[in-house]
Amino acid sequence: MRDYAVPQFELSKGAVDFIDDAALESLLTGDTPEPAQVRDVLAKSLAKTPLTVAETALLVRTTDPDLLEEMFEAARRLKREVYGNRIVLFAPLYIGNDCTNDCLYCAFRRSNLAEIRRSLNQEEIRDQVAALERQGHKRLILVFGEHPRYHADFIAECVRTVYSVKVGPGEIRRVNINAAPQNVAGYRTIKAARIGTFQVFQETYHHETYAQMHPPYTRKGNYLYRLDALSRAQEAGIDDVGIGALFGLYDWRFEVLGLVCHALHLQERYGVGPHTISFPRVRPALGVRLPDRWKVSDAEFKRLVAILRLAVPYTGLILTAREPPELRRELLGFGVSQIDAGTRIELGGYTECGDAQVLEREQFELGDIRPLDEVLRQLVTDGYIPSLCTACYRVGRTGEHFMEFAIPGFIKRFCTPNALLTAAEYLRDYASPATRAAGEKLIADELARFEEGPLKNELVARLRKIQESAERDLYF
Ligand code: SAM
Ligand code: SF4
Repeated sequence: MRDYAVPQFELSKGAVDFIDDAALESLLTGDTPEPAQVRDVLAKSLAKTPLTVAETALLVRTTDPDLLEEMFEAARRLKREVYGNRIVLFAPLYIGNDCTNDCLYCAFRRSNLAEIRRSLNQEEIRDQVAALERQGHKRLILVFGEHPRYHADFIAECVRTVYSVKVGPGEIRRVNINAAPQNVAGYRTIKAARIGTFQVFQETYHHETYAQMHPPYTRKGNYLYRLDALSRAQEAGIDDVGIGALFGLYDWRFEVLGLVCHALHLQERYGVGPHTISFPRVRPALGVRLPDRWKVSDAEFKRLVAILRLAVPYTGLILTAREPPELRRELLGFGVSQIDAGTRIELGGYTECGDAQVLEREQFELGDIRPLDEVLRQLVTDGYIPSLCTACYRVGRTGEHFMEFAIPGFIKRFCTPNALLTAAEYLRDYASPATRAAGEKLIADELARFEEGPLKNELVARLRKIQESAERDLYF
């Protein structure tokens, strides 16, 4: 029996289906671009100007190996200039895998009777959060199937529960959400619980494929309701939204253009583009059999990440533990700005599952289940600053204000110091000896490079406080 009525399909004011399949397909079938055209687009991107869909298509149609190498190099450079060498770390927490949808690619789909169903209660959520805090996590994303049980009030309650858990020096300072699209009132309820980003992935922007993957008898079968999901979030005042496509359902080149259309649409209508883009590739999942036709190879995957970086210079790119460690390592250089680490996606997996994955209890199989400490050690060894920073949304630097990123000096003044402070907290409170040694060396190297002056003096003083006292959460 349902406690809550299923919300009606409400749309944002002036909602439109802004994906024109024929127009996007025609952009993909244009001529092979001339080197000069490609270089012009790369130059525009390096000037930190978002690309149009047609310009993105030009990069998508580029196949010449030398030009591809130039493209990768431009993506690496842009990433360094916009984001510096920080990588933001988070962990997903699956709250419930009941689902009324029947997405062909997902083990949680309702027709999959082999899946073990479970929804965590608030006590169980507390236990999972405590385990995550003991690892050193500060940022979580809560993940839900689509079910009347996971209504907006329930989601908001879960968020409050997460923030209430404090174990030793541990606390979760930012909770993001990946859940079913809501109506405006639902988003408002969830926003009031102080969330960071609300993510909804379109999965595929291609209408025909969308209809094949999401049966019409399900809520997710409504393409426009989903495409409009984050516009409603904006109407509800959530200016921090994440879009995504599930790569492997249709032509990756089309999906890249779809993502760019979506980003530009949000930018035009609300004055702010998406905060993040996710680009999961389909993984093996219990009882899932998809044709290989649109499978994305590693080489294509690298291209699409580089193109996204170039197309939307100020949008964070999230690469998840679906991908194996070596590939993740390589892709960090092309523009990925956030990764999850120490990830378990079985319901209750942070306390109940050992080292091996339990496929009957998860949505799909992961490619990387290394502990947070190991991922972090690799990052610092490779010269990245692991960041558990949550400062921006807590001081209101979201949405349009977040675009201050565009102002030169923002990273130097805020992001790098905050990344170093949160990394120092981790090293002091949670790291293994090997990670601590490698991390402290990285911090020393970064400080040596840091411009002398009052900011550096204050940063050094705060780092010392973290070393010598129990004071924490010292952000700029
Ligand atoms: N149920 C909500 C929804 O569908 O929007 C919440 C998110 S779902 C639990 C998280 C995401 O996992 C989906 O949006 C989809 O892109 C991705 N996903 C589903 N099946 C997958 C698979 N077999 N491999 C990789 N990612 C998958
Ligand atoms: Fe349900 Fe989301 Fe899986 Fe679709 S992707 S079956 S909506 S959990």
